[in-house]
Amino acid sequence: MNVVKAVKVPDRPSLNEKALRIARVETLSVNAPTIRAHKLSNTEIHHKTIIVVRVILANGAVGYGEGSTLGGPRWAEESPESIRACIDTYLAPVLIGRPANRFEALALAMSKAATRNTAAKAAVESALYDAVGKSLGLPAAQLLGGRIHDGFEVIWALASGDVDQEIEEARGKLAAREHRRFKVKIGLAEPHADVSRLTRLVEALPDCQIIVDINQGWTVAQCNRWIPALEELGIALIEQPIVARDRQNLVRVTARSRVPVMIDEGAFATSEVAAAGCRGAGTVLSLKLVKSGGLMEMKRAAGVGAAHGMELYGGCLLESGIGAAAHLAVFSTLPVLHWGTEHFGPKILSRDLIASGLTFRDFRIECPIGPGLGVEVDERYILSMADGAWRGSAI
Ligand SMILES: [Mg+2]
Repeated sequence: MNVVKAVKVPDRPSLNEKALRIARVETLSVNAPTIRAHKLSNTEIHHKTIIVVRVILANGAVGYGEGSTLGGPRWAEESPESIRACIDTYLAPVLIGRPANRFEALALAMSKAATRNTAAKAAVESALYDAVGKSLGLPAAQLLGGRIHDGFEVIWALASGDVDQEIEEARGKLAAREHRRFKVKIGLAEPHADVSRLTRLVEALPDCQIIVDINQGWTVAQCNRWIPALEELGIALIEQPIVARDRQNLVRVTARSRVPVMIDEGAFATSEVAAAGCRGAGTVLSLKLVKSGGLMEMKRAAGVGAAHGMELYGGCLLESGIGAAAHLAVFSTLPVLHWGTEHFGPKILSRDLIASGLTFRDFRIECPIGPGLGVEVDERYILSMADGAWRGSAI
């Protein structure tokens, strides 16, 4: 009989929890201009205020995360101001001094310190994965089960509301082999005007996939009246057509529509994903860190959605390269991401907050492979665009 002799595993300084203790948690408010106006059903943005979180460990490793919203507290309850206040006042104090590698314990501590506030928690957890990954020399994806996918086809959003501009923009993206799938933001204008706009786009972009995001802009009656027109146009997917809190009517809209319906604002917590999946409120789920409150929880949301037969879509909230990398770390470990991803945020910003690490090529975004989130934050640039200095708690 072969006897396996126990081998003493040598001490590895990088796994020493003293070295991985969280020494500082800091936040910076960065105003990042966009290349053009981005119009949704309920807001229009020309710049993004991004809360960058910087976690510094006792070993000197620095991790970054990003707290993102769209146009203040309109897309959801959180605003850049509330994200920053929540991190500085409530989340940082429960993290300082604790080992950063205990992701589950730290997520629990943050949940006890603050209910919901999912964008704030996700920003912090992204920074923890980045710092620990860098300390161990491992990509964040490795800490989440290991990568299955190297990259995804990436969708671009058409959201200026000016159809001639949108056609030109889309043709440019197509010619540059950057994007051939487009998400059109509708719901701001009357439905008949949106359908006319979509008709023009579909005619102008014959080989492209077109999906629409109504951002809660329609009533159930408008869905009944206008979704058949979207089907006629060959629209591939309809995102969050009605108000987020009305999951019951989303069940009806989903059942009537032959075009798949995706739930976005209507399902944040994993329990809400389960409720939506059970009842058929959407057959596609948009995954976002700002909804799940962290990388691990977003992975769980994906599992719960898939267990209910939902297809998965890699959503974004126009994050910079920091947030995009955090999403990709999770997406790359999912068995299937049926609809690919829409992490075009780094390119809608006039300049990204990272200096390197993300590659867009041949209609795809490649998942970063370096330690942590695998991207290099452009500290000098973010400070030049910041509203004040880094603010934070320390041991
Ligand atoms: Mg959406």
